Amino acid sequence: MIRKLILFLLCAFEIVLILFMMAWPASSDESQLKYEIASPPNCKNNLGEKVLFKDVNNGRAKSAAGMAKRDDTGTPIVYRFAYQNSPKPLQQFIDFHECAHHQTGDVDLPHPPRNSPEHMMNESIADCIATLRIRDEINRGEDVVFLAVEQLVQVMITIGFPAMTTESRKANILTCLQKNETVDAFIDGVLKHRKLK
Ligand SMILES: [Zn+2]
Repeated sequence: MIRKLILFLLCAFEIVLILFMMAWPASSDESQLKYEIASPPNCKNNLGEKVLFKDVNNGRAKSAAGMAKRDDTGTPIVYRFAYQNSPKPLQQFIDFHECAHHQTGDVDLPHPPRNSPEHMMNESIADCIATLRIRDEINRGEDVVFLAVEQLVQVMITIGFPAMTTESRKANILTCLQKNETVDAFIDGVLKHRKLK
């Protein structure tokens, strides 16, 4: 009788354990903060083509990320990865940053080597355009930029970027925020410098 009871308890324990393990990935996913996904901004590339935004959730990314490219059919597109895992200011910053890669023609130019000065320059320019657009197009834009930059630095630290990189990125964004220039004039300057205009 006791033996049967122990066996029963063990089995019950096993079943609970299996149920727990099956449920674990789902419930741990749910326990992570989920954010509402912001509506994407207007975006046209340097050739005047409309840029599409597409949400992608492969369930792995811990924080929002973006990618600007043309899809297989040649449509300019921004892929938005795991936006539900990051707050709205960071989502908006990434949207404008990726859109900027289309606005400046980066997407159609050969990709410079990773972390080369040219690549870093493209990233700084995209950050600057994102900053100016948030400043001008979003309610209380300056505050949104401040929040976004803190959230961005936090993510970069988590990923393992050195403090020097996060600090210089932040400094560039805050310097752009003080620019006395419209975003159109800024983009114009970039396109003329690249002989794309
Ligand atoms: Zn970029």
